[in-house]
Amino acid sequence: MTTSSQPAGTGRAVPPAGDGPEVDVLVVGAGITGVYQLYRAREAGFSVALVEAGGGVGGTWYWNRYPGARFDSESYTYGYLFSRELFDAWEWREHFAEQPETERYLNHVVDRFDLRRDMRFGASVTGASYDEARATWTVTTGDDAVTRARYLVAATGVLSVPHFPDVPGRAAFGGESHHTGLWPTRPVDFAGKRVAVVGTGSSGVQIIPIIAPEVESLTVYQRTANWCTPLNNAPITADEQVRLRAEFDVICETVNSSPHGFLHRPHDRVTFDDSDDERRAFFERMWNSPGFSKLTSNYTDLLLDPAANAEWCDFLAEKITDIVHDPDTAQKLIPKDQRFGEHRPPFVTGYYEAFNRPNVTLVDVKETPIVRVTPAGIETTEGERELDVIVWATGFDFGTGALLRMGIRGRDGMPLEQHWADGPRTFLGVQTSRFPNLFFPGGPHAAAGNNPRYNGDQVDFVTDTLRYVRGRGFDAIEVDPAAEERWTSMVDRNAAKPPSFGASSYYFGSNIPGKPRRYLLNSAGRPKFFEEIAKVVQSDYAAFRLSRSSPAWRPGA
Ligand SMILES: Cc1cc2nc3c(=O)[nH]c(=O)nc-3n(C[C@H](O)[C@H](O)[C@H](O)COP(=O)(O)OP(=O)(O)OC[C@H]3O[C@@H](n4cnc5c(N)ncnc54)[C@H](O)[C@@H]3O)c2cc1C
Repeated sequence: MTTSSQPAGTGRAVPPAGDGPEVDVLVVGAGITGVYQLYRAREAGFSVALVEAGGGVGGTWYWNRYPGARFDSESYTYGYLFSRELFDAWEWREHFAEQPETERYLNHVVDRFDLRRDMRFGASVTGASYDEARATWTVTTGDDAVTRARYLVAATGVLSVPHFPDVPGRAAFGGESHHTGLWPTRPVDFAGKRVAVVGTGSSGVQIIPIIAPEVESLTVYQRTANWCTPLNNAPITADEQVRLRAEFDVICETVNSSPHGFLHRPHDRVTFDDSDDERRAFFERMWNSPGFSKLTSNYTDLLLDPAANAEWCDFLAEKITDIVHDPDTAQKLIPKDQRFGEHRPPFVTGYYEAFNRPNVTLVDVKETPIVRVTPAGIETTEGERELDVIVWATGFDFGTGALLRMGIRGRDGMPLEQHWADGPRTFLGVQTSRFPNLFFPGGPHAAAGNNPRYNGDQVDFVTDTLRYVRGRGFDAIEVDPAAEERWTSMVDRNAAKPPSFGASSYYFGSNIPGKPRRYLLNSAGRPKFFEEIAKVVQSDYAAFRLSRSSPAWRPGA
């Protein structure tokens, strides 16, 4: 730990007594991370407030209310585990819950722990400036309210800024048009309509099979074919509910020690340990296994040995060819330039089957590019298709999108956009130098996998850090640039190594024109995070600089 007090004679006014922040901790974002941060900070005795751009609690599960939106993580591993009473009180209906259930769950948590009284909705942060003399953030929201906070915790999400492709004429479309990540709170009527879904990533492949039976026609515009595998969802039976409650401690222990926060057990064999028949039987088991286990419990060399990966991909290609009747459509749906796991794998229910319906057509936009959106529909190089509804399932400005749109200004007015011009620079994915008292759990450079587990680790660390600063009588904390450099270089180094995602994945920002191609996750994952936190604690926060500058303010007072 390096400390500094404000030197005498700098000419800066010492803030008068009582001129401190209005709250100790201002949290931005009412998703699963922000709600947990609000709970933890309040529990630690800080005065707290939370602002959220949306109209309610839920974050991802507030905005992504399109038909078919659901978890790819097992519901009971995604929900909070900090309270056994909460775990016992909430019965998830399905192994992979649908959006309405998750939104209800997060509202239940907020009410159960009386968090709503500190939350303000419809309040989008448009500016946040750090005042060094007062060690305080001044935060402005779109409703013109100003809040002064000692600590600013931006739990603004990595998938919270929807991205639209730059297609000419998009605004001129005369029908209804919705992004999956900005779905209206009222139901969208698809019955008997001519509908387009643009994009076949994780959201597109969820909505397509749900609306296909209702619509008159569904045209799917695919840029990138992905390796989709079955989610294998099912209702949670009464016996399973009893078992889940009985196994609470084991569930906590397993997901808390798993590198990716899942319950799935790793396999103990490599691909070519098995004979062809054994491998085929194993791949069938994988195909029928739940969600992410195809990645986490597959052969251990799946992402390390290209030949092993190709074996699994051949198996998947065969499955697609078996399911999809039209050989030309099947070929278009088989990825040709992507190993399994190179992109975030989507999990599906009835996706490939939807293409057997006579009212569903696939357009490969690499072969037949979209030229423009017209007032009546979408025009490709093969002509115009008239439409009533366009669904943009075109993803998000991943990782840094929300943080770079908040008008964050650090020491000496440094814009975050400038500090991160070449990509994010962080320590532990929670702090960046020149921005004291700003934390961003659930932001870039976190781990990968079941989000709430590693985002929760970060919230726990942030809360412990705030306690530490308070306990030692400091009021500002900023990561040392050397520590930031070390963590950022580690992220970049590991990004180049398998089993990380491929450079064409949106995890490198590759879907956003002009965005620096930097890895936005931390593929060394939770073990590296825990290792580094242990060092932080052992070294008495040597990676941070602590300072006093506001004698008038007492945290939590
Ligand atoms: C369709 C979909 C399905 C997913 N499924 C899974 C899954 O199965 N498993 C999994 O682990 N992850 C999944 N994810 C990832 C998901 O984003 C995370 O699991 C989790 O919801 C992140 O929570 P969060 O609180 O960090 O961020 P979010 O849930 O994104 O919440 C951030 C909030 O911050 C608000 N905000 C942003 N900027 C501002 C601002 N300037 N002012 C005020 N408020 C602001 C946003 O409005 C948003 O409500 C999915 C994502 C999507 C889009």
